[in-house]
Amino acid sequence: MTEISDVRIRCGHCRAVFPCPVAFGDLESLERAIAAGLKATCPSCGQVIRCTMKHMMWRYADGSSGGVSD
Ligand SMILES: [Zn+2]
Repeated sequence: MTEISDVRIRCGHCRAVFPCPVAFGDLESLERAIAAGLKATCPSCGQVIRCTMKHMMWRYADGSSGGVSD
């Protein structure tokens, strides 16, 4: 299990980055939620984002970051 924190989403429409509305404690549960169809509404442009790993950013327990970079 890979521990993660501070999960954020980058909007594919306006590229705003905002906190994920659902908290995830590990990468596996984040991947499961994405496979199950995780969606989020961008607070900047109002578009509903169908999340993929290409939208996600997070921080590992050691402080390094994962996912897309900004
Ligand atoms: Zn947006």
